[in-house]
Amino acid sequence: MIGLSRVKLSQVSKTFGEVSAVNQLDLTINEGEFFTLLGPSGCGKTTTLRMIAGFCYPTTGRILFDDQDVTRVPPHYRDTGMVFQNYALFPHMTVAENVAFGLEVRKLPKKEIAERVEQALEQVRLGGFGERRISQLSGGQQQRVALARALVIRPRILLLDEPLSNLDAHLRDEMRTEILSLQRSLGITTIYVTHDQVEALSMSDRIAVFSRGKCQQTGTPEEIYNHPKNAFVASFVGETNLVPVTVKETGADHVTVESGNHLFRVKKGEPDAVPLRTGEGSWFLSIRPEAIRLADGPGSNRVEGWVKLIQFTGTSYHCKVELGDGTVLQALFLNRPDMRGRLRDGERRFFELPEEQLRLIPNTG
Ligand code: ATP
Repeated sequence: MIGLSRVKLSQVSKTFGEVSAVNQLDLTINEGEFFTLLGPSGCGKTTTLRMIAGFCYPTTGRILFDDQDVTRVPPHYRDTGMVFQNYALFPHMTVAENVAFGLEVRKLPKKEIAERVEQALEQVRLGGFGERRISQLSGGQQQRVALARALVIRPRILLLDEPLSNLDAHLRDEMRTEILSLQRSLGITTIYVTHDQVEALSMSDRIAVFSRGKCQQTGTPEEIYNHPKNAFVASFVGETNLVPVTVKETGADHVTVESGNHLFRVKKGEPDAVPLRTGEGSWFLSIRPEAIRLADGPGSNRVEGWVKLIQFTGTSYHCKVELGDGTVLQALFLNRPDMRGRLRDGERRFFELPEEQLRLIPNTG
């Protein structure tokens, strides 16, 4: 049985010379959680994972596993299993020798090593592959060996650094499901690094979105997608329309905002940030493309626009909606029977931006 651990980072910073890679990071990853560090290249996610593994130490701040301070504990005393982006397998060794490596270092009895290696290979569906050479394996199989090598030591925490980025799209989808079901069956605390928002949304219990060394927001996939805290999170995670607006009125349960000659009513609701005073701050009105609806005519929260560049993807129609003031919205309509033939390029139509689907987002991040 794999022991579970909670990981806590408290005010962790890491600088490399002049470069601030990670800046005053506070994170708690709960026991058994699948937790993803998501962000663009260079935002500090790998450095964070490497500090959790012990491959580099924070410049300031503390890292705790349960209540044990491991900030400066070397990697081999931390009980973490790591899967690297390029797998880091030993090409001259067999599959079994690669997987056994961590147990040999720990000087376990030969019989126990053989049993645990076979069990780890079974877990990643590579039972019977022990005698193969690494060079005889496909990319997906090499990825599984790397996973078996991390799991065989029965770590308290599994760390995965962009493990799927070297695989083609089809294999990536397959491995995503496999890693997730393995993690669910073992219940092991898992920290996963990726720049791919689809991976993050579909696999994680919770996500931390990073930008420029700082954590911008943590939350469940639904919280991150439905209630992004700032413009960076809204645009990095999924597609979104961000329209600069001025706040005209703040009521008890709604805010009225203006963009060009349009007024929109936005529902106030936790956990979204809302401006306290009229005209205060710099705000975007945000709406996801799939939240925009076709409307029969003018009305509250409705706009008139020209339909442009319709793209049919099988499951949906994507199009641009150009408003009279130059604003361009992305809209997405599911391919349902009632939608077929209703959109034509260049046509003028009314669209509704439903009050409860609109968010006001501060222009930060
Ligand atoms: P990627 O997805 O490209 O790996 P990342 O989000 O994982 O990006 P990091 O690798 O953590 O980002 O890098 C964060 C910043 O720290 C970058 O500006 C990077 O150049 C810098 N950095 C990372 N490691 C070192 C190092 N060993 N020496 C100097 N600078 C480094």
